[in-house]
Amino acid sequence: MVDLKVGDTYRCPEDHKAKIVWINKEKKVIAVKCKHKHLSKIVKVPDRNKSMLRPGRYPTRDKKIYAKNTVFLIKL
Ligand SMILES: [Zn+2]
Repeated sequence: MVDLKVGDTYRCPEDHKAKIVWINKEKKVIAVKCKHKHLSKIVKVPDRNKSMLRPGRYPTRDKKIYAKNTVFLIKL
């Protein structure tokens, strides 16, 4: 088993280089903080580029929301 320390570099679930910020006592769970962008959620936003096809129905598009500095818990 690899001896991990807080501050070491570890791969986040999306395969970026992330930093270990916390390790549990049994060394079974670690928290890594990644400063890269991660897809957080997709929301519907009004789309003004599309013309209204049906009255009373507003055109929408999916907008991707990205989160930075995400902390992941990883089971070893
Ligand atoms: Zn990442």
